[in-house]
Amino acid sequence: MAEAATATPETRPLVPHLKLGETRDQDYLAGSRCQNCGTLYVGPRQFCAKCSSQGPFATERLSSNGEVYVWSIIHQSRPGIPTPYIAAVVDLPEGVAVNANILGVEPKPENMHFGMKVKMETEKVSEDREGNSYIAYHFVPA
Ligand SMILES: [Zn+2]
Repeated sequence: MAEAATATPETRPLVPHLKLGETRDQDYLAGSRCQNCGTLYVGPRQFCAKCSSQGPFATERLSSNGEVYVWSIIHQSRPGIPTPYIAAVVDLPEGVAVNANILGVEPKPENMHFGMKVKMETEKVSEDREGNSYIAYHFVPA
């Protein structure tokens, strides 16, 4: 029996610092901790900006809960991107921060505040021609 020419479609993270579990509620963000000086970064690293070493780096799971450090309501974006939406920097308890959109609230200033408690969620955002799915993360009010 001939093998199929196409591979089985995969589910892939859209960014390298998102790690996928068996189900979407098991997805998590990953950081890299420099084993030379202990500095933690979001996602994979090749060099440490603090001690200039090449690590090595140990992968660490980051919290899915954080606080909005700063946010902005985006009214103009690239074609095909619905606006308005909320772009934010979310502080995580490990001392690192990630850029993320905030969903689950109407994008109005009165709905947002600095220090707002948020939690990460993931969802499928696109699919390529081979049928592979791409998963991205965002945050919603906790
Ligand atoms: Zn270091």
